[in-house]
Amino acid sequence: MWKASVLTLYPELFPGPLDASVLGRARAERLWDMDTVNIKDFSDNPYGSVDDTPAGGGAGLVMRADILANALDSVERKDRPVLYLSPRGKPFTQKRAHKLSRGPGFIALCGRFEGVDARLIEARQIEEVSIGDFVLAGGEIAVMAMIEACVRLIPGVLGSAQSLGVESFEGDLLEYPQYTKPRMFENKQIPDVLLSGDHGRVAKWRLEQAEEITRTRRPDLYQRYLENGPIRRSKNKER
Ligand code: SAH
Repeated sequence: MWKASVLTLYPELFPGPLDASVLGRARAERLWDMDTVNIKDFSDNPYGSVDDTPAGGGAGLVMRADILANALDSVERKDRPVLYLSPRGKPFTQKRAHKLSRGPGFIALCGRFEGVDARLIEARQIEEVSIGDFVLAGGEIAVMAMIEACVRLIPGVLGSAQSLGVESFEGDLLEYPQYTKPRMFENKQIPDVLLSGDHGRVAKWRLEQAEEITRTRRPDLYQRYLENGPIRRSKNKER
C-alpha cells in the first residue's frame, strides 16, 4: 500500500485535511496510508528542544542533524525516497506527483525555524523538494499538498466520473473553462458550442481555449507544449 511517513514537530496537524472527502474515504478503504514521527521524541534534553543557534551567527534556530538523523533512522524505509520540504528544493510538479504515486510512497521531513543542518541532507541522501517560490513557516502544509497531489492519482481514489487525463498540466496545457447549470447566470450564457451536442466541435473548442489560456497565463508551459505537445498528449492517454 502507498504510504507517506512524515517527520514533524506538529504530528497533531495530520491527517487533518487529508482525511476529508475522497482522500479520507480512500484511506478508510486502505488505498493509501500515512503516519507521523514526532521529532521531539528524539530530543536529547528534558525540554524536548531539537534546534540550536546557527553556526556563524545570525537570527533564528536550526534543527539539529543528530536528532533528525535518529528520528529518520527510526522509520522503516521500504524503498521509499526521503524528501525534505524546502524552498530551496527542486520544484514539485504534476509529473513528479505521477512518478511518486506509482511508487511505494515517501518519507518526508518537515522543517521549522530556519530549516535543518545541511550535513543531515548530505549524510542521509535526502532530496529537497519545494512546492513553490514562497516561504512557509513549516513543511507541514507543503507535505500535505504533496500527499494530496500524489494520492488522488492512485487508481481507485477518485471516482470514475473524475477524469485525470484532461486536467491542467497534463500534456503541458492548463484546463479549459468549465460551466454547469444554470444556462444563464447574471446575463452570462454558457458558450453555445457546449450546448450543441457536437462532441467534435466541443473537443476542438476546449483545446483552443486550453491553448489560449496557457499561452497568456503560462508562456513557459506553452513553449514546452509547442515543442513536444502532440507527443505528450498521446502518451497521456496511455496512462
Ligand atoms: N530559511 C529557510 C526557510 C525556512 S522556512 C530558507 O530561506 O530557505 C521553514 C520551513 O518551512 C522549511 O524548513 C521548510 O520545511 C518549510 N518550507 C517553507 N517554504 C517552503 C516551500 N516553498 N516548499 C516546501 N517547504 C517549505
